[in-house]
Amino acid sequence: MIIHKAEYTTSAVNRNQYPEHSEPEIALAGRSNVGKSSLINKFINRKNLARTGNTPGKTRMLNFYHINDAFYFVDLPGYGYAKVSKDVHSQWGKMMEDYFSTRENLRAVIQIVDIRHKPSLEDQEMHGFLRIRGIPVLVVATKADKIARGQWAKYLKVIAEALELPDWHFILPYSAETGTGVEELHQAVEEILAE
Ligand code: GDP
Repeated sequence: MIIHKAEYTTSAVNRNQYPEHSEPEIALAGRSNVGKSSLINKFINRKNLARTGNTPGKTRMLNFYHINDAFYFVDLPGYGYAKVSKDVHSQWGKMMEDYFSTRENLRAVIQIVDIRHKPSLEDQEMHGFLRIRGIPVLVVATKADKIARGQWAKYLKVIAEALELPDWHFILPYSAETGTGVEELHQAVEEILAE
């Protein structure tokens, strides 16, 4: 897949604010700071298109990116910030529920975890939530450059087990630093869009 165009479209907290279109969407989920913006930027080969971390407020919103005039990436708010307070937590939950239960053009979710760590309870809950709803989910283990290649399998097995995946080969190792996995993710996205 060649990315010839990528642009930020809009941010939303509720469904009235979602952009109106009929193209497929792929959402990206992960805890705050896992490397979601970096993954998106590397995927679209831009240094700074997704820089939500530095934009006040936007980390708590759904951010829509239009790619190749053909599909959308929807950057979901990282789940770490939900620890802030019960109110914020329920607000986050409602945002997710709203999006996942109403978005008909959602094709799949790319769930991003850190290759070095066993998925957190929140990672596990998000994964379970998606599976129960029958939403296809692709797990990407980012920051793979932090681990020697020969050790990847050992770490991927921990992730597979925590998320109850049948096999660690289902997880895609990725690095926004070195570009590992970018081609494979391009291919996976192409396959999702072709379905
Ligand atoms: P977000 O909050 O999930 O959007 O996370 P960011 O993309 O802002 O990344 C959080 C931190 O992790 C930043 O300091 C990034 O430079 C770093 N980071 C992200 N991806 C990678 C990666 O693949 N490898 C390494 N070594 N660092 C990364």
